[in-house]
Amino acid sequence: MGSLKITLVTVFILSCKLSQLSASEGDRLYIYKDCLKRCISRNCDENGLLFRQNTTIQQDFWCRLFSWRCIDECKYHCMWSAVKKLENAGRQVVKFHGKWPFKRIMGMQEPASVFASLLNLLANAYMYSKLRTEFSIKSRPMVLLWHLFALVCMNAWVWSMVFHTRDTPFTEFMDYTCALSMVMGLYVAAVVRILHSQKKIVATLLTGSLLYFATHVRLLATGVVDYDYNMTVNVIFGAVGSFIWLVYAGYLSARGSRYSSRMLWFVTCSAVVLPLELLDFPPVRRAWDAHAVWHLSTAPLPLLFYQFVIEDLRYTQSRQDKLL
Ligand SMILES: [Zn+2]
Repeated sequence: MGSLKITLVTVFILSCKLSQLSASEGDRLYIYKDCLKRCISRNCDENGLLFRQNTTIQQDFWCRLFSWRCIDECKYHCMWSAVKKLENAGRQVVKFHGKWPFKRIMGMQEPASVFASLLNLLANAYMYSKLRTEFSIKSRPMVLLWHLFALVCMNAWVWSMVFHTRDTPFTEFMDYTCALSMVMGLYVAAVVRILHSQKKIVATLLTGSLLYFATHVRLLATGVVDYDYNMTVNVIFGAVGSFIWLVYAGYLSARGSRYSSRMLWFVTCSAVVLPLELLDFPPVRRAWDAHAVWHLSTAPLPLLFYQFVIEDLRYTQSRQDKLL
């Protein structure tokens, strides 16, 4: 019994030490720490992972499906207990372990972000199906580029859904890595589309980009993710890619092309909604924080982007037909 108590205390101290790594105002509150200590001691095994037989915590099917552990359930229960006490005292909602309090739905940690990521996935899948219907991979090398681009984007949104459903070191790594692959995909596609006749320049830029991507992924894999640095890398590649597309759209517009306006709108709307990702406010209705709203705001953008791509492919096809 004595050794069990020592182990439970060790688990609690360890959980506190771990929480200090991503310490937030909420997890430093006494009401939260006291609740967590009692909950773990009452319900969890010596590792804090499994439930004791006489636990008072009841998990639904979804929470069991997504492997919410005993210590996670205690953190969730104590977080909401502390939030209610703060609200009753007229104080502001605070973050816990680096995140705002979100109400789980069907076991999902951040259901609004999952829903918004699903909309982005569906928008990409819908436009990809339109592109596939009209252009086969065999028709031209440029079509292969857009097939790969669409697959990279859809993969990124799947991992965004997984990460927002259940935040673990692995799902965070996959979300960050795949999000960067999508942002760099936009930049790479711009380089290939515009400079495709300059094969040496394209090869040099692509090799450099791939090497940088591999280096960044290795850094993310170490588990020590510098959020600001990762964000800066994404913003820089996003800005460079958007700038190249903007210049290309301006060039097309000067030549009398009408479809270039779709790219102008895409870049403008992407820039307008970007501050949402840089903002940080407590979730509205316990669900919609700035990040979730940002994901929601980007959902219609693939419709503009792929429509531009489809019309650009038609344009190049008609030019080639005239040359024949
Ligand atoms: Zn996200």
